[in-house]
Amino acid sequence: MNRAPYASSAQRSRGRRYAEPDAPTRSPFQRDRDRIVHSTAFRRLVYKTQVFLNHEGDLFRTRMTHSLEVAQIARSIARPLGLDEDLVEAIALAHDLGHTPFGHAGQDALNECMAEHGGFEHNLQSLRVVDHLEQRYPAFDGLNLSFETREGILKHCSRRNAESLERSEPGGAGRRFLDRTQPSLEAQLCNLADAIAYNAHDIDDGVRSGLITVGQLQELDLFERHRRQAVVEHPDLAPASRQRRLLHEGIRRMLSEQIYDVIDATGLWLAQFKPDSPDAVRACPPLVRFSQAMQQQSVGLNRFLSSHLYRHAQVLQNTTQAQQMVRELFHAYQRDPSAMPPDHASREDLPRAVADYIAGMTDRFAAREHERLTGQRLL
Ligand code: MG
Repeated sequence: MNRAPYASSAQRSRGRRYAEPDAPTRSPFQRDRDRIVHSTAFRRLVYKTQVFLNHEGDLFRTRMTHSLEVAQIARSIARPLGLDEDLVEAIALAHDLGHTPFGHAGQDALNECMAEHGGFEHNLQSLRVVDHLEQRYPAFDGLNLSFETREGILKHCSRRNAESLERSEPGGAGRRFLDRTQPSLEAQLCNLADAIAYNAHDIDDGVRSGLITVGQLQELDLFERHRRQAVVEHPDLAPASRQRRLLHEGIRRMLSEQIYDVIDATGLWLAQFKPDSPDAVRACPPLVRFSQAMQQQSVGLNRFLSSHLYRHAQVLQNTTQAQQMVRELFHAYQRDPSAMPPDHASREDLPRAVADYIAGMTDRFAAREHERLTGQRLL
């Protein structure tokens, strides 16, 4: 399918914060994607935790492989819907750039440390990374991405943060959280593809780690249906020695079903609301969605992972130590800013500078810094 009228358009982009001449061969959204791939923050994702800490094994997802899987899933849905694939890819690859080391444990600890200083929120931090913290261009801070990419990166935002964004950039990326309107379809799609990706890969990683058993997965209708069907079609997958292959086949079928479901359900919503431009999309209710039946199954999947994996005793034990590390790092740099590199140490907004510095760390760098500053080795 060609580009649909409701798709975002690089030619009619709301543009960049600092005017730049167009590139001779690449569209603005392609160029955004390229800037993200070349950024320092993107490379750091290799060593940042998704669920399993980076040192726990080489084959678990990291923020980098998670982001690649989100981009793959989102593009698979974007093309048949006629959306802009370059924009989808740019948003997906950048959506987790603001994540702290140690996954959500790190973010929660940093948010607590920053309670009196405006808090810490990883979505807003992703936007800070591309707007301010990357330093690669002579004339401006950040990557100077197109509005549509920045809009997609900021997928959630508190009212207080939206008001503060609105003050610095009237009518900008924070505005929709005050107006309660939707972002582009490409942004909505990346949001859903994020959940589809982690629900699937966390099952795979959960089983790989031994924290989830294939037996437990049988309580999940969405997975179990496909596993059974795969055994019917391939009886040779039944023996225990071939369980790994069966697991992959089950997950693959489950992923495909969700992707086709989003394409169909979104097609119905688009046919009902008939948005004829990207701005018409912003005034509609959310249009990129699962069918109701799939939505319920997706919630079930997420609940299963919460109780069996995210709140597993072994994961929680790491959480406690990771949070201790982030807290102690925060207090150490607050006490002695000169323990940070000069560009952070010299900033006047010290708590925010410390938060930016810690948020940028990879898991292993944070652990090394923590040991250097406290003499204690954790994790
Ligand atoms: Mg994500």
